[in-house]
Amino acid sequence: MIVIAGTGAGGGILARELALNGFEVTILEKGPYIKSKDAFNYYDKYSEDVDLLTTTCIGGATIVSMSNMVRALDEELLDYDVDLSEAYEYVEKLINVHQLDDSHIGKGTQAFLDAGRELGLETLKMPKAIREEDCIQCGKCAFGCPADAKWSGKDFIDEAVEAGATLICESEVTEVLEENGRVCGIKYVKDNVEEILEADKVVLSAGAIGSTLILRNSGISEAGREIFFDPFVSVGGYLKDINFNTEVQMGGLVVGENFVLSPHFSSFIRANIPDDNVTDADILSIMVKTPDECKGYVDDDGDVVKINTITDIRYLAEGTATAGFILERAGVDPKTIGSTVYRGAHPGGTAKIGEIVDSNLETEIKNLFVCDASVLPISPGKPPILTILALSKRLADYLKKE
Ligand SMILES: Cc1cc2nc3c(=O)[nH]c(=O)nc-3n(C[C@H](O)[C@H](O)[C@H](O)COP(=O)(O)OP(=O)(O)OC[C@H]3O[C@@H](n4cnc5c(N)ncnc54)[C@H](O)[C@@H]3O)c2cc1C
Repeated sequence: MIVIAGTGAGGGILARELALNGFEVTILEKGPYIKSKDAFNYYDKYSEDVDLLTTTCIGGATIVSMSNMVRALDEELLDYDVDLSEAYEYVEKLINVHQLDDSHIGKGTQAFLDAGRELGLETLKMPKAIREEDCIQCGKCAFGCPADAKWSGKDFIDEAVEAGATLICESEVTEVLEENGRVCGIKYVKDNVEEILEADKVVLSAGAIGSTLILRNSGISEAGREIFFDPFVSVGGYLKDINFNTEVQMGGLVVGENFVLSPHFSSFIRANIPDDNVTDADILSIMVKTPDECKGYVDDDGDVVKINTITDIRYLAEGTATAGFILERAGVDPKTIGSTVYRGAHPGGTAKIGEIVDSNLETEIKNLFVCDASVLPISPGKPPILTILALSKRLADYLKKE
C-alpha cells in the first residue's frame, strides 16, 4: 500500500494518478474535509514572527489559491536531472490551463494590462485553471471559492476516492516507520489517539513545513535547515470607482527580470489613504512577488525563522518601483500609494532535490518520498503549483513503472 500525507498541490494529483491506475492508496490529511467556499476559516499561520500563509484542510493551500498556473524552474530543474516537459503538458491539459477569458477581465485588471504594455513591460493575461462558466466574478478567490469555479487539490482527491482510495481526514502524520532502512509504516494521530498504518511506500506531501517536521521525527534531521517563501507585498492607492475589489484576482501578469507583478486587491491599502471617504471600491493594487534566497529555517516547533538578504530586498524594491509606475499610468493618485506588510505564501526548499531527496524524490530511507514544495531546490519567485503538479505527475509515473 502507498500512503500519501497531505492533499495539496503535491498530494492531490499523486493520489489521483495512482488510484486511477489501480494502486492501493491511503491518504492522510491533517485538516478537515470542507467545501471550497468555507476555506477562509482554515487559514493557518506558521509563526507569529513571519507573515506566512497557508490553509490546513482538504486541498491544502491550493483551495485558497488564485489558480494562477505558470511554469517555473523548468530550465533549472534540468541541472538536477528532472525534465518536466511531458508532465507539464499532461497537467496543463488535465486542469485546462488557459489565459483568463476577456469576459472575466475587469476594469482594474484591464488598466493594469494597458499600463504594463504602454510602459513596454512583458505583460500578459494570467494563465489560470478557472472555469469561467461557473465564476461569478466576486473577487473572493483567496477565500476559497463561493462558486467552486477554480481547480484545487480537492478535485483530485475526490477523483482518487471515487477510484477506490481511502481518505482519512483530521489525521496528523507524525513519523515514518522504517525497518532495515526501508519504509514499513507510518504513525499518525487522530482524535488524540496515536495510530499506526503499515505501508510499502510513503509519500510526504504535507507542505514545506509539515513534511520537514515528519522527516525530522523520522531521523532525517537535516530537513528544514533552509527555507524560501517567495516574499510579496501588495502596493496600491486611490482610483475612484475602479471596483477592482470584486474582479477575478490576479488576472494579469507582468514578468520582470527579478520579480513578477499582478493586480491583487488588498483591503490593507485603504488604511494608508488619509481620506475617510475612500472605500474598497476605490483601490487599485498590485502584488509584487520576488524570488528569495534560502536563508532561514524551520525550528523544532514548526515556527519559521526567515532572514531577508540584501538581494531579496533589492528585488522587492525593483518590483515595487515598477508597480508604482504602472499604478500611476493606470490613473492611481501617486500621493496615495501605500504597501501592505511583507508576507510569504509559497514556503519551499526544506527538502531539496540533490540534498534530502534524489531526482526521483526518494530520501535516504528506501521507499520514502517527498513530493511538495519542500523539494524545490531554489525559490521560483512565481506561483509554484503547476511545477509541483508536474513533479508529482512525474513521481506517479515513476512509481507506476516500479
Ligand atoms: C492565499 C494563497 C494564494 C495562493 N495562490 C497561488 C496561485 O494562484 N498559484 C500558485 O501556483 N500558488 C499559489 N499559492 C501557493 C500554493 O498554494 C502553494 O505553494 C502550494 O499549495 C504548496 O503545495 P504543497 O503540496 O507544498 O502544500 P499544500 O498545498 O499546502 O498541501 C499540504 C497539505 O498537507 C496537509 N498537512 C500538513 N501537515 C500534515 C501532517 N503532519 N499530516 C497530514 N497532512 C498534513 C495540509 O493540511 C495540506 O492539506 C497560494 C498560496 C496562498 C496561501
